[in-house]
Amino acid sequence: MNDCIFCRIINKEIPKEFDFESDSLVVFPDINPSAELHLLIVPKNHIIGMADLTRNHGDLLVEIYNVVNKLVKQNNLEENFYRVVVNGGKAQHVPHLHFHLLGGQWKRMV
Ligand code: 5GP
Ligand code: ZN
Repeated sequence: MNDCIFCRIINKEIPKEFDFESDSLVVFPDINPSAELHLLIVPKNHIIGMADLTRNHGDLLVEIYNVVNKLVKQNNLEENFYRVVVNGGKAQHVPHLHFHLLGGQWKRMV
């Protein structure tokens, strides 16, 4: 999707360092962090939102949570506050499915 900001980041049209990349997803920091650690876990396929998920996305969802667990360990968050958030409806501002990993001190709601 040409006009999708996350597709443009994934396609490297916008330079961005990825914290993690696999065949199916990328991880990069949120530009306007709501917590001490605020990473976005973004599937490479342009899935608009939660409502567009089907059984075929089962492996992708397991991979996303496996990556989240890895990032939690890497950032020593196991015994700290962390949360995974997926916004929908009017709470979702970028129409490309993404998971927020928030950890440590909170600044505001995502
Ligand atoms: P949503 O409200 O859709 O769940 O969250 C979208 C998130 O994407 C927001 O937290 C916002 O700060 C972040 N965001 C929007 N545009 C960009 C961008 O160009 N680069 C990065 N790294 N994050 C972005
Ligand atoms: Zn997209």
